[in-house]
Amino acid sequence: MDVVNPATGECVDTYEEHTESEVDAALARAEDAFASWRDRSVRERERLLADAADVLREHEREYAETMTREMGKPISQAISEVQKCAWLCDHYAEHASAYLDADAHPSPPGTTVTTEYEPLGPVLAVMPWNYPFWQVFRFAAPYLTAGNVGLLKHASNVPGCAAAIADVFERAGYPEDVFQTLLIPGDRVERVVADDRVRAATLTGSGPAGRSLASTAGEHLKKTVLELGGSDPFVVLDDADVQTAASVGAWARNQNGGQSCIAAKRFVVADAVYDEFVDALVANAESLTVGDPTSEDTDVGPQASRELLETLHEQVEASVDAGATVETGGEPLDRDGAFYPPTVLTDVPAGCPADTEELFGPVAAVYRVDGEDAAVRKANDTDFGLGASVWTTDTDRGQRVASRIDAGCVYVNELVKSDPRVPFGGVGESGYGRELSEAGIQEFVNRKTVWVA
Ligand code: NDP
Repeated sequence: MDVVNPATGECVDTYEEHTESEVDAALARAEDAFASWRDRSVRERERLLADAADVLREHEREYAETMTREMGKPISQAISEVQKCAWLCDHYAEHASAYLDADAHPSPPGTTVTTEYEPLGPVLAVMPWNYPFWQVFRFAAPYLTAGNVGLLKHASNVPGCAAAIADVFERAGYPEDVFQTLLIPGDRVERVVADDRVRAATLTGSGPAGRSLASTAGEHLKKTVLELGGSDPFVVLDDADVQTAASVGAWARNQNGGQSCIAAKRFVVADAVYDEFVDALVANAESLTVGDPTSEDTDVGPQASRELLETLHEQVEASVDAGATVETGGEPLDRDGAFYPPTVLTDVPAGCPADTEELFGPVAAVYRVDGEDAAVRKANDTDFGLGASVWTTDTDRGQRVASRIDAGCVYVNELVKSDPRVPFGGVGESGYGRELSEAGIQEFVNRKTVWVA
């Protein structure tokens, strides 16, 4: 596995893929590790997780630099990501016991009925490169604390991040093999999912990868959680604070180089404020600093690879050919590395890539709509259903509109974000299942009913 720094185009590291026998040995060790890990108390596992949070904080720059080198995340955002992982670990270190506490049920006189939450075993996590720490901790922190053991198959362009995450658990004092990484490409995942020793699987990534994993898991009757991206609407109603919406909207679209499943992708704007909003969105997009991701001042680094940049640009070109207007950006930057500027498209015709596909880069599609019903219709005019953002100075109206939007979460007067305290996940092509919060930790457990007469 060659690691190419997307800011320079240079190969900076090479890792050997694991052989089939190495994968087999890792699965055997995972099964052994589970046998004793499951018997530890949740309190003990919480304490180790709190130590993992400390390790993350102590080594935040080292881990952040690995992300920046491998996938181009601006260093300040990489440090924030490590800090957010520590917060996530703190959250489950404090709340896992309560989330996993046996629930009592109304029961016939003379009996006691409870639900207990037991771990399933080795869980496979297939993870993407865009938030290479956060996505992994979102799986590992709750599931390990519930008593499962983790097998990480990270994206092939971030093997150093995978090794660094294994290092966090080692430094924190986790027993050996409770968390392992498998250095294999996507086309070798099927055999691992099918293996009897793997009890469940979760994937964050593209629709095709999710479908492939889920169909193998289905064949072998294993539970899955899928988080497959989105085309989130950012709805600006006619009574919105337009300047704030445009400033937050520009960041919601462009942070992490626009490579986020919950980035605002389709801006649905009321006719009455459309011109003012587009002018402000363009001004905000143009004010972002694009460049060297190792610089503290950079807002937008490179795209994670040249191939991803090319796919994005093809989507932009096809949308422009279909009639979209480029208000700013729209061409890769003429320099080394995979740099694409913040781009705003208007007059986006129905059915073009910017309208129907996920644009995984800094490209906003803006629509003009007439009235609240039209705004809701356009917001829902997608096969995805991950998040949505609604802007209005009338919060009752915001809640009303939120309840009409088909998505896993709707934020009123706020950008969509993931937060350890609240459930995260989508509907439709965005996948199924929930991560984070109580809902997340209860995805991969056996909810066992115990009836005592
Ligand atoms: P992929 O879905 O290909 O990669 C995500 C993860 O899935 C990687 O670990 C990858 O491994 C693995 N994978 C790929 N194919 C399979 C398969 N058949 N079975 C099991 N695992 C597989 O995403 P890309 O990186 O190619 O990005 C393509 C698009 O996917 C983006 O433009 C974006 O639209 C979407 N995406 C969404 C993300 C999100 O946060 N929801 C994150 C990343 C991408 P390997 O790296 O070895 O191929």
